[in-house]
Amino acid sequence: MDVRNCRKCGRIFNYIAGPHICPACAEKMEEDFQKVKQYIRENPNMTIVETATACEVDVGQIKQWLREERLTLSSAEGAELVCESCGKPIMSGRFCEECKKDVSKGLMDSVAKPKLPPQPEKKESSGNKMRFLGR
Ligand SMILES: [Zn+2]
Ligand SMILES: [Zn+2]
Repeated sequence: MDVRNCRKCGRIFNYIAGPHICPACAEKMEEDFQKVKQYIRENPNMTIVETATACEVDVGQIKQWLREERLTLSSAEGAELVCESCGKPIMSGRFCEECKKDVSKGLMDSVAKPKLPPQPEKKESSGNKMRFLGR
């Protein structure tokens, strides 16, 4: 049996898989998530901090959900997240739309590139044409 301490409440629990939090805290977190999701749906123009305060949920927790793309805010400014590539405000995930495109385009380019340099055309052996004609 794998016994761990819950990272949130410190209680000992039988660890099975996933994050190191006890079933009670996992359930609480799921409740918080649903609450936040609902709140964002009803109050689309709130910032992360306002949402966190209203739902009594940790700001860091909401940001984590946004990074995981479980949540999306309707306004990038409210999300207080920035693209990890260009620093532009984004609503969820790690990259803005353009950088996401660039990343997939970059992948496409490297796939489309031929792996071998073009083969030089083989010169026909002229050996056959150089027969002695004075037979
Ligand atoms: Zn716990
Ligand atoms: Zn970007």
